[in-house]
Amino acid sequence: MKTFSHERLAALARDRGMPDEYLRDLRVVSCVLPFKVNEYVADQLIDWSAAPDDAIFRLTFPHRDMLPPEVFDGIAALHDTDAPREVLRKAAADAQALLNPHPGDQLEANVPTLDGHRLDGLQHKYAETVLVFPSQGQTCHSYCGYCFRWAQFVGIAELRQALRDPAQLTAYLAHHPEASDVLFTGGDPMIMKTQVLGRWIEPLLDPAMETVRTLRFGTKALSYWPARFTTDADADDLLRLFERCVAAGRHVAVMAHFSHPRELETPVVREAIARIRATGAVIRAQAPLVAHVNDEAAVWSRMWQLMVELGVLPYYMFVERDTGARSYFGVPLGKALQIYTDAIRGVSGLARTARGPVMSAAPGKVLIDGVSTIAGERVFALRLLQARDPELVGRQFFAAYDPTAEWFDDLRPALGSWFPGQHLSREAELVSAGAR
Ligand SMILES: *Cc1c(COP(=O)(O)O)cnc(C)c1O
Ligand code: SF4
Repeated sequence: MKTFSHERLAALARDRGMPDEYLRDLRVVSCVLPFKVNEYVADQLIDWSAAPDDAIFRLTFPHRDMLPPEVFDGIAALHDTDAPREVLRKAAADAQALLNPHPGDQLEANVPTLDGHRLDGLQHKYAETVLVFPSQGQTCHSYCGYCFRWAQFVGIAELRQALRDPAQLTAYLAHHPEASDVLFTGGDPMIMKTQVLGRWIEPLLDPAMETVRTLRFGTKALSYWPARFTTDADADDLLRLFERCVAAGRHVAVMAHFSHPRELETPVVREAIARIRATGAVIRAQAPLVAHVNDEAAVWSRMWQLMVELGVLPYYMFVERDTGARSYFGVPLGKALQIYTDAIRGVSGLARTARGPVMSAAPGKVLIDGVSTIAGERVFALRLLQARDPELVGRQFFAAYDPTAEWFDDLRPALGSWFPGQHLSREAELVSAGAR
């Protein structure tokens, strides 16, 4: 797999006909935020005749509006005058610090302990699911411009949140029989060679680990590198591994990240989906709703309909987190709800398994369930789909309607409603902050 970032990314864009003015924007923005594109994304997903407005181009390539204008101008001035490397690096670091690199302090939150030791690289926020960040899986085949892990990819957040030893996972799960699901995440766990992945998975198939019922893999490989499941040297081994999981009575859930219907249209992704399904694994799909890429109801209707036809189950529509190029990709909650509702109206019940818009916020997964006027007051009706405290799952609450609100922290209780997190101290809130 050939990948392109920094100067090689600029050369790729130039070779595909992007003008010099754009190449300058690309270089300036990639001083601050991480970008990586591979040959599949460049050759088969991006429609270069529509760039820079093409959705996949917007998803994966820099844009000047990803930085606040004054930050862009500052870095651009240094870039244009060939400022010394150190000066540019310092300005980039200052810019990164402005972009909320540690949303919800998730690097530190919900990290469990075993025998009194922190298990950095595990997250156990909701009783039934343990998240694993295998150290070998902390990058991706390409990067999404909106990624909430961008700070790790530019190296300003330590990759502390990564587990090296599969035995630590197994030991933790043996002590936590309530965890029926193990979710491998990253980065992208499918970046790992099958042999490496097998070292994580095989021990969980042991009869002694009967409490683990579902193996989930959070991945964008179907979008960014479907050859992982077709022609890569160890693609067949991966499918055999899935089959062994299924034969051991486990449910294999490929949690695929699809941002746009085009990602479902190439022959190779279709073959990859068919091959995964033939193992008995089930593919479920989720993605954030982001401006410039998929902020139209018709895009989601088409994507969900294609998924149903291909045997992929629509799962979550997320709200983009408040970090990185948020000002570029963010969509207000009220607009997100409108897009979700219109998209759901455009498909049959089979595609309405997609829940959203959902914020993976500090207290839990918060569903924006509707906008209502109650006793003369305009409110968001909200619901906790997930909560640290299982007692709170399903709990409804209300927030004052605010057309500019883009994230949970922007919301205020309405109608004297109970509100999650309100009873918590600031420290307890930080501890309860977590990843999506
Ligand atoms: C979303 C999420 C899960 C999985 O939740 P489901 O609703 O079961 O898909 C688990 N852990 C964390 C921290 C999450 O954000
Ligand atoms: S695939 Fe996921 S982890 Fe990787 S860049 Fe995209 S959003 Fe980030």
